[in-house]
Amino acid sequence: MTATNAEARARELRRLIEDANHRYYVLDDPQLSDADYDHLLRELLDLEDRYPELRTPDSPTQRVGAPAAERFAPYEHRVPMLSLANATNADELRAFDERVRKLAGSAQSYVVELKIDGLATSLQYRDGALERGGTRGDGRVGEEVTPNLRTVSSIPLRLRPAGSLGPEIEVRGEVYLKKSDFINLNVARERAGLPVFANPRNAASGGVRQLDPRLTAERKLSFFAYSVMVSGAANSVILSGRDKRPSRRAAEPVEAREIATQWQSLQLLKKLGLPVNPHVARCVSIDKVIAYCEEWEAKREDLDYEIDGVVVKVDDLATQERLGAAGRDPRWAIAYKFKPREARTKLLDIVITVGRTGTLNPNAVLEPVQLGGVTVRNATLHNEEYIASNDIRPGDVVLVTRAGDVIPRVVGPVLSERKGNPRKFVMPDRCPVCGADVDHPEGEAMSRCTNAACPAQVLERVRHFCSRGAMDIEGIGDVMAQQLTELGLVHEIADIYSLDEKKLADVPRTGEKTIANVLRNIEMSKSRGLARVLTGLGIRFVGTQTAQILAGDFGTIDAVAAASADELQQCEGIGPEVAGSVSLFFAQHANRAMIERLRKAGVSMSAPKRTRAASGKLAGKTFVLTGTLPNLTRDEAADLITQAGGKVTGSVSKKTDYVVAGSDPGSKYDKAQTLGITILDEDGLRKLL
Ligand code: NAD
Repeated sequence: MTATNAEARARELRRLIEDANHRYYVLDDPQLSDADYDHLLRELLDLEDRYPELRTPDSPTQRVGAPAAERFAPYEHRVPMLSLANATNADELRAFDERVRKLAGSAQSYVVELKIDGLATSLQYRDGALERGGTRGDGRVGEEVTPNLRTVSSIPLRLRPAGSLGPEIEVRGEVYLKKSDFINLNVARERAGLPVFANPRNAASGGVRQLDPRLTAERKLSFFAYSVMVSGAANSVILSGRDKRPSRRAAEPVEAREIATQWQSLQLLKKLGLPVNPHVARCVSIDKVIAYCEEWEAKREDLDYEIDGVVVKVDDLATQERLGAAGRDPRWAIAYKFKPREARTKLLDIVITVGRTGTLNPNAVLEPVQLGGVTVRNATLHNEEYIASNDIRPGDVVLVTRAGDVIPRVVGPVLSERKGNPRKFVMPDRCPVCGADVDHPEGEAMSRCTNAACPAQVLERVRHFCSRGAMDIEGIGDVMAQQLTELGLVHEIADIYSLDEKKLADVPRTGEKTIANVLRNIEMSKSRGLARVLTGLGIRFVGTQTAQILAGDFGTIDAVAAASADELQQCEGIGPEVAGSVSLFFAQHANRAMIERLRKAGVSMSAPKRTRAASGKLAGKTFVLTGTLPNLTRDEAADLITQAGGKVTGSVSKKTDYVVAGSDPGSKYDKAQTLGITILDEDGLRKLL
């Protein structure tokens, strides 16, 4: 490559990397896989090694992360928060060890820590109390997000006493989202019609960088600490990381003087009451480090949080300080990066499965590809809108990712590898299972099969009815539900209550004991009550919470069925969409007949009724809340309104009487203005009350 070509390529790489950094660090919406990003960065590093004049101070190889977003107050780092150089194999780890030996003049012990895939965070404690917290940003200035970090339950608001360490303690660590919490979060978002997160890291990073701490709290974030700095008027000692100031003083408190290694820093963190990852280890040789890396690369799926590698740190803090940093990376540490869990493969076909409510769900059939230790053959494509907006076409080479235990997802096509002009995907106009017409309601992302008796829908309904959150019939899981529907023993959910020993004996591989268990559990389900029945019926938009509200307000299934859409909307939190869906369900003859069958079978369909505020100052008035109120949470405001007989709904319509708006209101505010609806602030609401 000529010098001119190298310069042009370096410019191009810088632009690509900066774009990717912005999407990753600022927008929390990366478009490149981490492996592709690392590939570009390495290419730029190699070019800059060969042509050092190309290494400009503003090159992404010299800078950490991306500048802090302007919507937050700046959080200046006293000691820069650095990045880490990467090793992707054992040879590169050995090369790192050799460099360290040469620079340090002797063999070193290392501390190895799992590399938690979250967001690097700094916490400043003064006199034991959490004072401020911020993100890494560009390493020099991050974003101040103190109220948000206070919502992370594993971050102590007060440190445990651990001796006289001076007034200021800075802790650094990773805010992350557990895989289980990530799945719950995405399920809830999908139900609420919100876009799902691609992986726990994006969800955690986006969660920390919210303007409203209540939204952060909803994400249920967690924290692991990995470094601590103690400083103050009397003592100023850095226990991990790099500080250019003179480090030790004669009058240092005992604990600080005792801390001479990263290992001891981790013990101190634990003593202070901070969560430290339990899998940290100390290795006396690079061979032991390599064995640890290989062990955790194989075991990463066993953890309930994402790790993307192992961080290897020289244990001795004085040596760390001596080694210092090169550009944006410390010389005393390296990140061993696991093989990517994103992969490219060919999208062979798009097939449709039919969901409980008749939704036509597109799934990718892939050329089998290894991803995070498993062979991936299928991946979700969400809905037709997702396919269209990402321009995903059968025959494309696509990027597939797998985060946590979630089913793999097609991220998008690799357009540079598209050959010719493959045909765009078109949703069938007939149900691929039963052949019935397909409906695509305007404004909705999904198409639906219109035949309620469609075998695929029946199976999903049976599964849902028996699931734990609904009638909780243990024994009728995925496999049994499939067998029961395939054998024609169950055509609709009420058929479950006609099952007997004789019928169940026809189900293959089902012994007497299983049959007795299933029948006992079916019997027990009869007394679960109205809320569970309403959940189990699988009415669109009616999840556990809505079912509980309906059950509490109406008391019996007949009262719910008889309620008009307007009456349904008098219930707290039930808007026109849910009310419409409930009315539609009970308007259908087949559904009413099924409920009669459930009743005859002895299924309890009543619940203790709550008394509703039919009177009060705000009786008959409908409110919508938007933005953050100065003194009330949204729940508190909603409680005050409902206690006064008013109703709070989720969306603004002509029927809305008042919109209560706080700071940063959403589109509801604009809609209220367009419709000429009275807009109140918190004071206005209080006056009305
Ligand atoms: P890094 O992720 O390679 O390593 C540094 C980070 O590791 C620290 O800031 C900290 O957050 C984290 N970490 C986790 N556990 C740790 C521990 N025990 N001790 C110390 N640190 C620990 O570096 P980076 O600068 O944060 O990010 C670069 C990486 O981010 C890239 O290699 C790439 O994978 C990814 N990235 C991807 C894109 C994209 O578009 N896909 C864009 C930018 C960055």
